[in-house]
Amino acid sequence: MSRFFSKKYSALVPYVPGEQPRDGKYVKLNTNESPFPPSEKALEYAAKHARRYNLYSDPDCTELKEALVDTYKVGTENITVGNGSDEILNFAFMAFCDDEHPAVYADITYGFYKVFAAVNNLHSTVIPLSLDVEAFKKAKGTKFIANPNAPTGIALPASVIEDILKACPEDVIVVDEAYVDFGAESCVVLTGKYDNLLVVQTFSKSRSMAGARLGFAIGCAGLITDLETIRNSINPYNVNSYTIALGTGTLLDAGYTKEHCGDIIENRAAYVKTLKEMGFEMTDSLANFIFVRHPKMAGEEIYLRLKEKGVLVRHFSQDRIADFNRITIGSMDQLKKLAEALSEILK
Ligand code: PMP
Repeated sequence: MSRFFSKKYSALVPYVPGEQPRDGKYVKLNTNESPFPPSEKALEYAAKHARRYNLYSDPDCTELKEALVDTYKVGTENITVGNGSDEILNFAFMAFCDDEHPAVYADITYGFYKVFAAVNNLHSTVIPLSLDVEAFKKAKGTKFIANPNAPTGIALPASVIEDILKACPEDVIVVDEAYVDFGAESCVVLTGKYDNLLVVQTFSKSRSMAGARLGFAIGCAGLITDLETIRNSINPYNVNSYTIALGTGTLLDAGYTKEHCGDIIENRAAYVKTLKEMGFEMTDSLANFIFVRHPKMAGEEIYLRLKEKGVLVRHFSQDRIADFNRITIGSMDQLKKLAEALSEILK
């Protein structure tokens, strides 16, 4: 830290993203990316439509929003887009939390929530059990619920989120649906009914666009206007021209996304079966990852030994989950390599 660093950030502990080795040698199952490339049609669309890099990108992301309107059957005024859903989540912490509205989130959930709360100097109320719905209803403040949750993959039905919305009409409820396309129920359909619901999604997982950085939120016009106020006060060009075009092309080729989500759901069943046969225990995941532990070996040791063998998974050292590893659902070929490495380690 330099002597110039603002005191308001001196205690800040940044989020640590999963490892991103540049040598491409690893079987990479650690950051929940798609094993499939972006759609060929989307890449062609982007090559054709994103050529004017001498000009700024469209601050309204018009064509992308039009494609989102068609996909999700909501109005343009109900959508904002961002540089990954992380950016939008941060905007939501900025827009909807303050001294009277602390950030409310579970202890075992997406690790960035606590960092967003800290960087914005906000109070947090941490719910001790991840999916304690009654505790979420009781806690006053802006609620951040990852559904499916990370890193457990456990999902709540939309009806349960609706119960929370009904019980807390004065609190904004942000439902982070980063992993919703792999079999969970989306709350987007509820956004027309509840003016306190914001649903955040990403193109990083089900749409194979993690590297292009694109996320979006859907909610009532009022919530979206608030997020736009924050966005336009920080960076109106937060989404670049290439990403706008690639995202649009991806939405136009919806069949490709649907097919590969189906593949991931199928592969997930195979990953679950193979790992259960090896003695792993796991949570019931509806995401593109599984969260597993082995009764005979510590989570960290499994992570380290897999890494030695060229397989990257994600280990979190946090209390209560240190025994687990989060393993992204990749291709069947990647499963074969994972299973080979695991059986050697567990021998
Ligand atoms: N929410 C959750 C629950 C996540 O796991 C992630 C991925 N790390 C994100 C949001 C952010 O995704 P992105 O910024 O790539 O859209």
